Amino acid sequence: MLALEALASRKIIPSEVIGMKKVIIVGGGFAGASAALELQSPNVQVELIESRGMLGGRFYSFPPTQNFPFPIDNGPHLMMGCYHETLRLFKKINALSQLTMMHPLQLSWVLPNQQKQVLHCSNLPAPFHLLFGLWNSKAFTWKDKMNLVQSLHRFKKKPFSLPTHLVTVEDFLSYIKASPNTQELFWNPLCKSILNLPPQVALIRSLGEVFSQAFFQSIMDSRLVFFSKPLSEIFFPNFKKIFESNHGLIHYHEGIQEIKIQNKTFELISKNQKCFSGDALILAIPPYSIHRFSLNAEWIRTLNFESLGKSSIMSVHLVLSQAIFHEPFLGLPYSPFDWIFNQTQNWNYQTQEQYLSLVRSASSQDTLNSDAFWIQEAEKVLRSRFKINPDLKILYSKVTREMAATFVWNQTNDALRPSSETSFQNIFLAGDWTQTHLPATIESACLSGYLAASKVKTFLNIN
Ligand SMILES: Cc1cc2nc3c(=O)[nH]c(=O)nc-3n(C[C@H](O)[C@H](O)[C@H](O)COP(=O)(O)OP(=O)(O)OC[C@H]3O[C@@H](n4cnc5c(N)ncnc54)[C@H](O)[C@@H]3O)c2cc1C
Repeated sequence: MLALEALASRKIIPSEVIGMKKVIIVGGGFAGASAALELQSPNVQVELIESRGMLGGRFYSFPPTQNFPFPIDNGPHLMMGCYHETLRLFKKINALSQLTMMHPLQLSWVLPNQQKQVLHCSNLPAPFHLLFGLWNSKAFTWKDKMNLVQSLHRFKKKPFSLPTHLVTVEDFLSYIKASPNTQELFWNPLCKSILNLPPQVALIRSLGEVFSQAFFQSIMDSRLVFFSKPLSEIFFPNFKKIFESNHGLIHYHEGIQEIKIQNKTFELISKNQKCFSGDALILAIPPYSIHRFSLNAEWIRTLNFESLGKSSIMSVHLVLSQAIFHEPFLGLPYSPFDWIFNQTQNWNYQTQEQYLSLVRSASSQDTLNSDAFWIQEAEKVLRSRFKINPDLKILYSKVTREMAATFVWNQTNDALRPSSETSFQNIFLAGDWTQTHLPATIESACLSGYLAASKVKTFLNIN
């Protein structure tokens, strides 16, 4: 309590308090925020350094403009009930009310013949909730249902019941003889949205990891979790309030360019030539940023950051003059897009117009086709899938592309994902790309922050 009392009695900045440990975290995305909250305590001063003028990292939205009068997410994000570490953080900062939980799980698709199909799980304990949903769904034939049940059952327990020669999701689908219908409605969209990789590249064990947690633990783990506001209004405004009220310091616009390490101490130098140092450091930034520091470290040489592939996500955002459906989101099988999100409903906008975002995950080179091309593709899909009034107009449109939404972890490089420890005793790593055994998701980022913070606590001998 010594440090807190000193703070209360004198107007000094916390890091000047004798005996207080200082931890520097570089990177203000979910990984950095998770580590920061985990470390804040009366005897630890946490400083967060971020290169941009805002927190959130890859989780952000663009403000409304004259050309598009609503906020635009850089890509709609979804989470699941099995994102335990993320949900714990939202709870910690009183932000659970920003989330909409879909319970029980429901997946809906609109087919090329304009029919809608649903998989509506029940309230039964897992995995019977899913079995019930599959049993009653008209989206699949009986043969498909049996095939799905038997295939998913392989992920019930670890080690998964998979022949060792099966590496990718595509290998697995051909092994289980998945029908084109189950591939289009179930396997492909889930693989692409969870791993942001096509089945040809995605590792079946990574997908199995998420299926095992989502479908075979508690029924609450399979809930789909949406955000009830644009991304920039979610989590980080609350985080900032809580972090700063506990004496946390945030340095914006301080892109770190260099790390000097000498005799177990480190010094960070930012683009503005500001210097930062502390007792421990967490680098919660993407690997290519770390690579630029030219740190003389073995783990940097082992993992060839330059060779890491990147997987993109593209979204087409449209405002229509009238609403064409009311579900929060729909699958779009047999189309260039995976899902269509109903932002008017998800963000509770009271308007006659309808704001939709169509998403293409794990997109390939064609992402770079022109905006006009993708807007036309989106319009074609809408006009062919929904019974649309001929007067319907697209009032506003916008295309967003995240070319490096996630890194490509495949058969050759997955084992090289580094853990949070480095060869420097007081420097740690975090980020969705580090070794969490999870795909590159918000949950992986939050878990990595927690793991790095736990190592820092052990190193500094604090709890
Ligand atoms: C379009 C899109 C859709 C997605 N959809 C989903 C989804 O539906 N569900 C899901 O779970 N995940 C989704 N993801 C992935 C998810 O957003 C990421 O996994 C997560 O946000 C990564 O967090 P992070 O903290 O590891 O990294 P980042 O968010 O990349 O944060 C790193 C931070 O470090 C800062 N930084 C970098 N270099 C420096 C430097 N040298 N000095 C100082 N600061 C620096 C950056 O500015 C950034 O703020 C999506 C990603 C994108 C792009």
